[in-house]
Amino acid sequence: KTFTREEIEIGAKEQNVRYLRLMFTDIDGTIKNVEVPISQLEKVMENKMMFDGSSIDGFVRIEESDMILRPDLSTWLIFPWEEVNGKVARLICDIYNPDGTPFSGDPRNNLKRVLKEMEEEGYTEFNLGPEPEFFLFKLDENGNPTTEVNDHGGYFDFAPTDLGENCRRDIVLHLENLGFEIEASHHETAPGQHEIDWKYAGAIEACDNIQTFKLIVKTVARKHGLHATFMPKPVYGVGGSGMHFNMSLFNKEGNVFCDEENELGLSKTAQHFLAGILDHALGYTAVCNPTVNSYKRLIPGYEAPVYIAWSARNRSPLVRIPSSRGVSTRIELRSVDPSANPYLAVAVLLQSGLDGVKKESIAPKPIDRNIYRMSSEERYKRGIRDLPTTLHNAVKYLQEDKVVQEALGNHIYKSFVSAKHIEWAAYREQVSEWEKEKYLTLY
Ligand code: ADP
Ligand code: MG
Ligand code: MG
Ligand code: MG
Ligand code: MG
Repeated sequence: KTFTREEIEIGAKEQNVRYLRLMFTDIDGTIKNVEVPISQLEKVMENKMMFDGSSIDGFVRIEESDMILRPDLSTWLIFPWEEVNGKVARLICDIYNPDGTPFSGDPRNNLKRVLKEMEEEGYTEFNLGPEPEFFLFKLDENGNPTTEVNDHGGYFDFAPTDLGENCRRDIVLHLENLGFEIEASHHETAPGQHEIDWKYAGAIEACDNIQTFKLIVKTVARKHGLHATFMPKPVYGVGGSGMHFNMSLFNKEGNVFCDEENELGLSKTAQHFLAGILDHALGYTAVCNPTVNSYKRLIPGYEAPVYIAWSARNRSPLVRIPSSRGVSTRIELRSVDPSANPYLAVAVLLQSGLDGVKKESIAPKPIDRNIYRMSSEERYKRGIRDLPTTLHNAVKYLQEDKVVQEALGNHIYKSFVSAKHIEWAAYREQVSEWEKEKYLTLY
């Protein structure tokens, strides 16, 4: 659904909206916003809102710093909480150059570019259903986040309700009021860990939803005196937080992944797409798992994928084909984590899949056995490769994958790689507690 200019103007008056947040996502995946009083609404609607792009990392050089924010009216939303002086609304914006062309360093614009290429191939939509996980931690007496949890729940437990449980219910209520169709909400395996799933949508809307979701989760958690984090692995010794991506390709007739005649119920297109997703797994991991910390989650023993394989039966491999068919026929990628920039992750996954379709790539045989019980020789014999184990390795693979690079576009690719080199360099000079414990007295 979209809104007309008039509907927005009337809605703003009726609901006493006083401030407008113009939101966009930078290359890091962080939500940025330019807040203006509602009196500027007309200027915003006429695409006259400028901001200084050089204030955002990896965006533009100083001499070309004036950028234009063009609001997407379908993203109009009034935040559900009352502020002292009235309500706050938001519009998600695309960033344009002063000459009126889309700015190529804007991840949302970039995804639109990739989607246009998809449409030229005859598809109408790339659908995404994300399953984000997060932790709720206590705050200390100064209001700073800790990694202490306050619940005793486990996966699908009927533990006595606690602060975390109440907070999650409140989050779900807020999301439903904002139009999210919540399909599942449950405690995850680790103490303090939760998952909320909602109905899939087309690529842009789904990514916008992920960004809105994170904002709502963090804000509501604060109101409950808790800190919500989407950091992939905040606590040693328990499972980390992932964000499985359920993906499907539609054309005018519907879901092109579905084929009732085929023994797996999967069309040729789905099988080639799957092959593309497996072929480029090394290349896109840096984008789907973009932090040093992401790789502390991708280890054996905690449900997170470690090897490049797929299955229609088993829940543990990198790619799972869930059993639902018909309109719900989909490919689930289990490596993605919530520190990923969703717009970038979707762009690289769509291009990877379509590359498989274009080349009519054939996926290797499914692995229906537990890969974690195979010896490394056996995995080698079957051609099962490991996912990158560090950010450093992942970036090296990205630098070898032209398809993934093309999906990011030159501007984003270059800024992303240089930012990740800096991140890795800063990390590797640190001396950890583990090293001190291990070596200080040994040597
Ligand atoms: P799991 O069994 O892995 O826990 P869930 O049932 O929690 O999976 O989540 C499934 C997700 O897949 C939901 O977000 C749902 O809306 C989404 N989904 C269903 N059909 C499709 C489809 N055709 N394309 C993309 N996502 C879909
Ligand atoms: Mg789920
Ligand atoms: Mg699940
Ligand atoms: Mg889960
Ligand atoms: Mg899942």
